[in-house]
Amino acid sequence: MARVLVEIRGGRKAVAGPAAGFASVYETRYYAYQAANSVDIVMKAVIVPVTPFRQNCSVLWCPETMKGAVVDPGGDLDQVLAAAKEHEVEIEKILLTHAHIDHAGATAELSERLDLPIEGPHRDDQFLIDAIADHGARFGFVGARPFEPTRWLDGGDTAGFGKVTLEVRHCPGHTPGHIVFFHRPSKVAIVGDVLFRGSVGRTDLPRGDHATLINSIRSQLWPLGDDVTFVPGHGDLSTFGNERRSNPYCSDFVEV
Ligand SMILES: [Zn+2]
Ligand SMILES: [Zn+2]
Repeated sequence: MARVLVEIRGGRKAVAGPAAGFASVYETRYYAYQAANSVDIVMKAVIVPVTPFRQNCSVLWCPETMKGAVVDPGGDLDQVLAAAKEHEVEIEKILLTHAHIDHAGATAELSERLDLPIEGPHRDDQFLIDAIADHGARFGFVGARPFEPTRWLDGGDTAGFGKVTLEVRHCPGHTPGHIVFFHRPSKVAIVGDVLFRGSVGRTDLPRGDHATLINSIRSQLWPLGDDVTFVPGHGDLSTFGNERRSNPYCSDFVEV
């Protein structure tokens, strides 16, 4: 039985995976402790909401090797690195879902500080990387600057750390180069700003497109399974099945 143990900064822990069925959020550390000792935990995660946008930056790691990745370092690096240190995670790389400032603003700094490679997003987000210093100045992100991904990612690629392998899906619509990371053994997806609990990513920003976004969700995410738990770029965890039933923008009952 594979599960992922997710800790959300602020004291809540969620155990997600096939047996959990739903991204139940448990208030006590006790449950998480039990789960960690009774099932095969193949990936662990701490979610650190960062920046005034409360963006869900994730530290993911392989419990066997303790090697990990930071997904979407938008800012507040001291908090992110403190979470990694607390769990004794050795950060190997940076992964990016897309290049908006709240997700990628501290990528250059983190990459330089720890000498880390940068994987993702899809190359269609290059225009956002080029503009990231301007966006940073506009939104008060100190020190945001462009960077060069070590490796662009595309749908069908994989990205890994330790013994963990994540599958990559290309999900344009919110941004043209947005990608999603899927951990198949625990059925957990890190979806950035493609999908939220009860909502979807905004499409009024440059090169956003609503119909494209809904098509990405339905063609790239739903086939992964209703029992997939997803970590959105902002807000609470949910499952694809829950959103297919009730999301006002992309449920099975909404025509686009
Ligand atoms: Zn975004
Ligand atoms: Zn965002």
